[in-house]
Amino acid sequence: MEIQQKIKQLRQQLQKAGYGYYVDNQPIMEDGVYDKLYRQLQELEQKYPELITVDSPTQRVGEKPASQFVSVPHNIPLYSLENAFNLEELKKWASKLQRLLSQEVEYVCELKIDGSAIALTYENGILVRGVTRGDGITGEDITSNVRTIRSLPLRLNMSSPPPRIEVRGEAFLPLDVFQGINQEREKAGTSLFANPRNAAAGTLRQLDPKITAQRHLGFFAYILHITQEGEDYPIPQSQWKSLTLLQEIGFPVNPHRQLCHSLQEVETYFQEWEAKRQNLPYLTDGVVIKINSLPLQRELGFTQKYPRWAIALKYPAEEVPTVVKDILVNVGRTGAVTPMAIMEPVHLAGTTVQRATLHNKDRVRELDIRVGDTVVIRKAGEIIPEVLRVIPSLRSSHTQLFQMPENCPECNAPLIHPPGEAVTRCVNSSCRAILRGSITHWASRNALDIRGLGEKNVILLIQNGLIKSIADLYNLTVAEIASLERMGTKSAENLVRAIATSKTQPWERVLYGLGIRHIGSVNGKILAANFPTVEQLATASVESLAAIAGIGSEIARSVVDWFQIPANLTLIERLQTAGLCFTGEENLNVVQNTTHTGKTFVITGTLPNLKRNEAKNLIEQGGGKVTSSISAKTDYIVVGENPGSKLDKAQKLGITQISEAELIALQHCSSVPAK
Ligand code: NAD
Repeated sequence: MEIQQKIKQLRQQLQKAGYGYYVDNQPIMEDGVYDKLYRQLQELEQKYPELITVDSPTQRVGEKPASQFVSVPHNIPLYSLENAFNLEELKKWASKLQRLLSQEVEYVCELKIDGSAIALTYENGILVRGVTRGDGITGEDITSNVRTIRSLPLRLNMSSPPPRIEVRGEAFLPLDVFQGINQEREKAGTSLFANPRNAAAGTLRQLDPKITAQRHLGFFAYILHITQEGEDYPIPQSQWKSLTLLQEIGFPVNPHRQLCHSLQEVETYFQEWEAKRQNLPYLTDGVVIKINSLPLQRELGFTQKYPRWAIALKYPAEEVPTVVKDILVNVGRTGAVTPMAIMEPVHLAGTTVQRATLHNKDRVRELDIRVGDTVVIRKAGEIIPEVLRVIPSLRSSHTQLFQMPENCPECNAPLIHPPGEAVTRCVNSSCRAILRGSITHWASRNALDIRGLGEKNVILLIQNGLIKSIADLYNLTVAEIASLERMGTKSAENLVRAIATSKTQPWERVLYGLGIRHIGSVNGKILAANFPTVEQLATASVESLAAIAGIGSEIARSVVDWFQIPANLTLIERLQTAGLCFTGEENLNVVQNTTHTGKTFVITGTLPNLKRNEAKNLIEQGGGKVTSSISAKTDYIVVGENPGSKLDKAQKLGITQISEAELIALQHCSSVPAK
């Protein structure tokens, strides 16, 4: 897009958003989206300064107020704050200031309360005027509403107050009050406030002060303008002393402020409050950092929009906007075909996110998401990124609709839409995506836990024709694997060893690893405990399965269906031949019946996976006992790497030696070396 055109579009979008936010108190987009668009415009204007216009949103503070209140000029302009979105930007700001001032400075850190700024004028100690920020030059006279804020002094606590002082601060709605207001609005069928900040602004601009009074606004003062010295106080020369004086003369001042002597202290304060702020009864969206010395503040002065001596360092948003670059489909191990949004990478709650599942075609339709759209994403349960919504006001004319493919993108088989299900499925059992997914699942941590067999290596083995089934893993040789690209003899040996070790995994894990639909690790455990052999499970009826606590009829049907498929029975046979464990104890919770019961164990050397105490716990849970020295009463010695002299003694006494893998197998399976 041509630069001029892009700038024009950004300005229109920001102006529309600014109006919704500042005038209507009904934002039309998330703050994060607004900030991102604002940054884009700022960057373009920096690059092309000849294109800056006086009405650009980057040149203005807020919006001209709506006309329901009398518009009044501010005694002192009420500026906005420059924003920093990370510590790097804060450091840049600080080093610029230090260059200008050529001296070390102190900073005052204050929590950035998410409310609405107001300017208060006191004449001879009496509140005479309260004004909204408006566009920074003029605001609305809301004196009668401001008087209803109970924590605000109507008269200052000073014996000889100066003729005039100006105080700035933040009016805000405590979170519980905000929720209460929205609940009432919901009952009354009126539109809800988007956030406490808009609700506070809306409350301050109520035409009926009684309504404002009912809403219990809170207030924290943060700036004091005082030019005349009085008998009982000197004019403060620092922000820190101003805050103390504000408190002394009767204002609520936020108690969580801090005087910092270095930028490092500022960073620590910011980091500390990132978590602590979640427990405050009001919303904060960052930290405001101000140069402490007022003479230095005066020396630095203002830009057209911001004071140079202060900056707002914002906490990362939990919901962020990004642009959809593509929508692809992914075929999972069950054959489910899932649309995925591929997005411009964004930083979200500690990680960089560039993909999010769109679940199924119904969800795509519901979101009305298109390639090229701006979307808002968040992390569901703090882990999985999900697309919350599309921002329609930012949709360009070049977006593309997404169509679910008719054929599997991996094997080209026609896709099916099972009746009553939202999912689209590939049912070709030899589809390589299904094979890849099922082998990766088999090797995963909670299943057979085969270290070194992640998705990349699974793809490598499939692409080179070495495996066509899970069972083929158990025929792989070191030479075959070592001949593959990126694989040396050492890693091939490790992989073959890890595959062999998986044979010692218990029946419940094997069952989970088979990837039967609806059988997660918990259901796997329940089934394995109820069906101690695979033969019993394979011949179970839907009714008998569904009768087990935790197993419903859908799961029961899925198990029965799985055992009807001849290829699955062949797989079990091959895995049994390979030595995998398909039997277990009838009830895993009964310790008296395990092979550990009443036996005495000694451990020597470093075990490959288990720590000493883990191995000890395992034995004790199984009813066994661990002693530190070998005697004729010792039943087993568990031998790890670099064994000590205990092994020599055990050999002399003819005590059975077992490895860690055998120890694990001993607890769960009967096919282990008996003493
Ligand atoms: P700001 O909110 O980023 O910071 C300035 C404000 O911080 C001050 O006016 C004051 O009200 C407040 N503040 C709180 N504690 C303070 C303290 N201790 N000391 C000083 N000030 C303190 O800037 P802004 O100009 O009020 O608003 C711009 C922001 O508003 C944008 O970054 C955006 O997030 C949001 N916005 C959103 C939309 C939208 O459509 N969603 C539209 C316009 C603006």
